[in-house]
Amino acid sequence: MQKFITLLLVGLIASTAAEAKKQTKGGDPIVVSPEDLDSSVMSYVEANVLATMYHELAHALIEGLSLPVFSREEDAADTFVVVITDQFFNAKEAEQLTWASADQYARDAEEAEKKGLEPAVWDTHSLDLQRYYNLICLYYGGDVDTRDDFAEENGLPHDRAETCKEERELAERSWGAVLDDIKRTQAGPDWITLDEDVDTLGNSYVLAAQGVIRKEVARLNERFAPDLEVKVVIENCNQENAFYSPSEGKITMCNELSRSYVHD
Ligand SMILES: [Zn+2]
Repeated sequence: MQKFITLLLVGLIASTAAEAKKQTKGGDPIVVSPEDLDSSVMSYVEANVLATMYHELAHALIEGLSLPVFSREEDAADTFVVVITDQFFNAKEAEQLTWASADQYARDAEEAEKKGLEPAVWDTHSLDLQRYYNLICLYYGGDVDTRDDFAEENGLPHDRAETCKEERELAERSWGAVLDDIKRTQAGPDWITLDEDVDTLGNSYVLAAQGVIRKEVARLNERFAPDLEVKVVIENCNQENAFYSPSEGKITMCNELSRSYVHD
């Protein structure tokens, strides 16, 4: 019975999130916009590739700088995505990025529900819909006066919205302080190196996604200079995934994952 109620509840929340996402339009790509590709599809792919890379980068910073983490590392990495997105992009762009990456979690939740999969409550990551609401809440909390429409359109319940400003302040005190500490102050070697596979799975969006990663690595090298080395590898992995390998200081961005963000 408990399981039934849980599934019913997840279903209800999923449909709320799905309803909400229809109300938000896709924007234009910010980093890479190839002329022959659909701009709203590209914008969605770009947002998710960036959010995923930032998430993995958070793992690299936590490990490489021995940062204290007082709760689940996966949640901390999701929080980092919002903090760095707001530093790197203007409000309109950051909103599109946050919405698209949150929306992908809503899609994943819907997909899992359709397949009849039980929510992985034991997982190291929060549930997909929790990740959805965490992103919406933290972004909204960055400026509650101007982002209230965003919160409402994306179905953030009032009970959660009440604490988002404080949650975001804590995120800034934590991750914002780390980013301040590692700001580049002088020219020097790149801390992130990129290793690209030439294969693109025959998909133009995957090719464009590689361009997004390349430009983002350049920007991260320009803006920050922590005392660590990170290798970003783009390759075919036979799985839709991205991951950080601590022993190698390596972030792997799978081409299959970029392709999974292509929704026509
Ligand atoms: Zn992670």
